[in-house]
Amino acid sequence: MLDRSHNAAPLPPEIARRRTFAIISHPDAGKTTLTEKFLLYGGAIQMAGQVRAKGEARRTRSDFMQMEKDRGISVSASAMSFDFGGYRFNLVDTPGHSDFSEDTYRTLTAVDAAVMVIDGAKGVESQTQKLFEVCRLRDLPILTFCNKMDRESRDTFDIIDEIQENLAIDVTPASWPIGVGRDFLGCYDMLNDRLELMDRADRNKVAESVRLQGLDDPKMEEHVPAHLLEKLREEVEMARELLPAFDAQGLLDGVLTPIWFGSAINSFGVRELMDGIGRFGPQPQPQKASPRQIAPEEEKVAGFVFKVQANMDPKHRDRVAFVRLASGHFKRGMKLTHVRTKKPMAITNPVLFLASDRELAEEAWAGDIMGIPNHGQLRIGDTLTEGEALRVQGIPSFAPELLQNCRAGDPMKAKHLDKALMQFAEEGAAKVFKPMLGAGFIVGVVGALQFEVLASRIELEYGLPVRFEPSQFTSARWMHGPKDKIEAFAQVNKGHMARDNDGDLVFLTRLQWDIDRVERDWPELTLTATKEMM
Ligand code: GDP
Repeated sequence: MLDRSHNAAPLPPEIARRRTFAIISHPDAGKTTLTEKFLLYGGAIQMAGQVRAKGEARRTRSDFMQMEKDRGISVSASAMSFDFGGYRFNLVDTPGHSDFSEDTYRTLTAVDAAVMVIDGAKGVESQTQKLFEVCRLRDLPILTFCNKMDRESRDTFDIIDEIQENLAIDVTPASWPIGVGRDFLGCYDMLNDRLELMDRADRNKVAESVRLQGLDDPKMEEHVPAHLLEKLREEVEMARELLPAFDAQGLLDGVLTPIWFGSAINSFGVRELMDGIGRFGPQPQPQKASPRQIAPEEEKVAGFVFKVQANMDPKHRDRVAFVRLASGHFKRGMKLTHVRTKKPMAITNPVLFLASDRELAEEAWAGDIMGIPNHGQLRIGDTLTEGEALRVQGIPSFAPELLQNCRAGDPMKAKHLDKALMQFAEEGAAKVFKPMLGAGFIVGVVGALQFEVLASRIELEYGLPVRFEPSQFTSARWMHGPKDKIEAFAQVNKGHMARDNDGDLVFLTRLQWDIDRVERDWPELTLTATKEMM
């Protein structure tokens, strides 16, 4: 991560209090439940039911479609803001299913930190590992929440060892669990020397907290049975000896993760975690851009689009571009420059995602996430500034790994298919290629489930049944080089050529041999598996 130099002037207070983060986890570890509790503590209880609805909708494929139909929910849950302890938290949702990883990767470019949720009985699972690797690439600070401690879970040292070994990151206990499963009493808060006791009776209640003078404090005995207390004292002593101590800089550098133990469903451990994010989590960080990086404290506003969601209301073909503000203080009505097209855009109706409701944003600061309704001008990777030609870098684009032909079920409606596919291409949900010869489209995705989701969305949002069928091609390569050479190449390879939704030429093949041959015979041309987003 780009670091703010240590002697940089402090950020303006409104920016300094912002914490923009995502939750990474394996399905079922408790992300939805934890989100719900964040909102509960953030004073937005009415939101909890909506998040729950979303979490449950994710369980099955058909329900997922149902959720997509109800775009209002899924959108307001794409980014959520809430206040707690003087901090403004911006929680950006990452899609749950592994087939939507592209979206997830991009989301992680819009946050300054991640909360990793693991299930205390299962430890580090595959999806957590994958997402962690992405965070690692960006040196994102990671705070860990070990959930479901009210159930039989693994030995505390085992869990910590597993994280250290599998993820190659130092782990420091921020809290230490007392008892396990039915006997789980709560935690000893190692950072604040407090005993936190879980109230099983009321899941929405803030846990009882007992202030202590060290582990030997006689008050301990009043609350913890002797056998558990002995074990706790032993374990904490061992942990202090064997495990790294908490170190705020280590967390910010992404080399050390503090771990809290808790039970999201019992609202236990959540407040301590939120405290930790607030106190130790990173402030809004500088953003990599060309020709220069963007610092959050700059007076002028700059932001970038990391996600586009279309057809939130099927009656209007509107889209919402999710923008992370990289710098400045935004006020509603501001005119910003859309750097890619060099056109001014008046941002008159941006949406902030305050947990209590979707609200029209009057203002926003560096670190915040805004939704900007638009008619397709805003694309993933676009930068908005007050005039300077800055382009944010590092929004990843993925090589489509699976290609299929897409045809309209009703040939009379082929024109609509064109429109629908272009829209999904702009949303970043798929790569769409129009072959130079022949009819139909070739669609490229990263995960197979995406074809089903696309087919369902096209039917739902455009009333158009479609068929996906195997394609004779398996790889797509974008062509770079002198324009005339690319055109000349295309003329002699028409059967292999297509254009993407920007009109750029793409070479399609099923043989690596073909790609090698082109590179040998056409030295002026370069083929790439991704097209860097402009
Ligand atoms: P997600 O898939 O990561 O969003 O997970 P959910 O939040 O939907 O939780 C998955 C399941 O675990 C649900 O049935 C939750 O009720 C349950 N769950 C979540 N947190 C806890 C917890 O602290 N203890 C127990 N016993 N169950 C939990």
